[in-house]
Amino acid sequence: MEVRTDPRFNRYPDLLISNRERLLQISAISFDGDMTLWDFFKVMRHSLGYTLAELQKQRPTPRALNLTIDKMIAIREQFAEEVKGEVWNLEAIRLKAFERTLEYVGCPDRDLAAHLNMIYRKHRFEDIELYPDVVPTFDILAPHFKLGLLSNGNTYPERCGLDGRFAFVVFAQDVEVEKPNPRIFEVTAERAGCELTQMLHVGDSLKNDVAGARNVGVPCVWLNREGVPNDTETQPDYEVASLSDIPAILGMGEA
Ligand SMILES: [Mg+2]
Repeated sequence: MEVRTDPRFNRYPDLLISNRERLLQISAISFDGDMTLWDFFKVMRHSLGYTLAELQKQRPTPRALNLTIDKMIAIREQFAEEVKGEVWNLEAIRLKAFERTLEYVGCPDRDLAAHLNMIYRKHRFEDIELYPDVVPTFDILAPHFKLGLLSNGNTYPERCGLDGRFAFVVFAQDVEVEKPNPRIFEVTAERAGCELTQMLHVGDSLKNDVAGARNVGVPCVWLNREGVPNDTETQPDYEVASLSDIPAILGMGEA
């Protein structure tokens, strides 16, 4: 069990006590999705691999044969940046990115883009894997807390084997505001039926999850699976290496 508390709370015992008191108020826990509950980058690259193979089979031009997954990711990122704040639907962005990719290899073809998108979607959602600590931790927490999903992505619970597991669900693409914007945390607390201070947020991103939560007074846990150093000014209330460490933070003993 490894719980690394914010060193400031260790230095100042009164803050540690107030932090514990804050935790006693918690009635809901919101979880980030990508890289917190599942390895998004792994399934995304895996799915792009199938898509790239199909593209190269259908259009075996030199330019297509030189195309890489990294380039496909870059094309998608560039398009997403261009339409940031205007187009929220991630599947629309992905489809358009395949159209852009085919233009890039000199074979513009919207029907083929739609076909590639279908292959991508199939693998993206059918092959997604939860981290092994997700279900055991949810089993421990669910009788005591409302569990929710707060995601800037588009993996809905029924797409990853978590159907029925969440009391509240908030997707940035649906509410058209994304983490770290305070508004999305407010929407989440509304859907959880509690005050912001009664919610604990758990996520892997210092910028989106930790800073976002702290800005609105939501206690937060930084999930740092790889043990990367935090050289930013953003300090989480708690840092854990596994979701299995969260019950102990909430006074529930060993997970
Ligand atoms: Mg994440």
